[in-house]
Amino acid sequence: MAHRLIFLGTSAGVPTRTRNVSALALQLENTKEWMLFDCGEGTQHRIMRTSLSVYHLSRIFITHLHGDHLYGLFGLLASRGMTRAGSPLEIYGPAGIRETLETLMRLSQLHLPFDLKIFEISEGTLLRYEGFRIDTVALSHSILSYGFVLTFDEKPGHFDIKKAKKLGIPEGPLYARLKKGERVTLLDGRSIDGKDLVGPSIPGKKIAIGGDNDDPLLFAPYAPFDLMIHEATYTRKDFDNLPRKFKHTTAQQLAQAARKMGVNRLILTHISPRYDKNGRISELLDEATKEFDGEVEIAYDFMELSI
Ligand SMILES: [Zn+2]
Ligand SMILES: [Zn+2]
Repeated sequence: MAHRLIFLGTSAGVPTRTRNVSALALQLENTKEWMLFDCGEGTQHRIMRTSLSVYHLSRIFITHLHGDHLYGLFGLLASRGMTRAGSPLEIYGPAGIRETLETLMRLSQLHLPFDLKIFEISEGTLLRYEGFRIDTVALSHSILSYGFVLTFDEKPGHFDIKKAKKLGIPEGPLYARLKKGERVTLLDGRSIDGKDLVGPSIPGKKIAIGGDNDDPLLFAPYAPFDLMIHEATYTRKDFDNLPRKFKHTTAQQLAQAARKMGVNRLILTHISPRYDKNGRISELLDEATKEFDGEVEIAYDFMELSI
C-alpha cells in the first residue's frame, strides 16, 4: 500500500469546464483517513465523484486566503455538519483563517455537531503526527501564502523470516523482539542479534506541496523531494507578455528550481484557464521538460498518484 494523492481542482483563479479551482486530497496508507490541501469553491462536488468520504476527512490545510483556494470550505463544513459525521476536524491556515471562519459561522448561525479546531500557522510551524511531520514554508505571493513539506517517518527494514526459520527460532514473541533489532537468547543457549535479521531501514518519502508562489526555491532548505506539487500558472512567454504581473510561477522557472532542488517527480498545477483551449496545455509541458530531466506531468482533475 502507498499514500494516495487525488487532484480535486487544478485551475488557477476560476474554474473551467474541465478543471475546478485548487484542492488536493491525500489519503494515508492503510487507512480511510485523508487530508485536504486547499478547498476552492465546489470542492465538495469534486469529493462526491471520488471514493473519499467527508466523514474520514480529518485535517484541512489552507495555503492562503485567496478565494480560489478557500471559498469551498464553507459549503464543505456546512455539508459535513448535516451528515452524522461526528469525528473531529482540524483546519490549518494563515493568520485570518480563524476570523474568517468564526465570522461566517456566527453570521450564518452555522453550528457544527463535531469538534472543529482552527490553527493559525506561521513560517516554520512544525506539525507532528503519527507517521509523518509537516513543515510549513513561507512563500512569496500577493498575500500571506504557505507551502507544506510532508516527511514520512522511515520504516524499519524488512524482517527475514526465512532466515529466522532456518536458524530454528520458534515463531511467536521472539520474532517481535528480533524485528525491533533486539538480541534474544534461545532455549538452547544460542544468542541471536535481531540486527542480523532485519534489512536496512527504508527512508520516508518527502513531498512538497506549494501554495501560490512566485519563488519555488523557497522550498530549497527542505530539498531534495521525492515529489513536488507546485503551481505553474503560465509559460514564460505568456508571463512576460502580461500587462500586469501577478506573483505566480512559470513552468520554466518551476522546472529550473526543481532541477536545482533534486526533485524526483514534478507535478505542475494551478494552470491558467487559457491553456485549456486549443491544445495549449502542451506548451507548459514542453517548457518544463526542456529544463527538467526527471518525471514531469501537468495535473488534471481526478488525476491520482500513489507514493
Ligand atoms: Zn490561486
Ligand atoms: Zn493566490
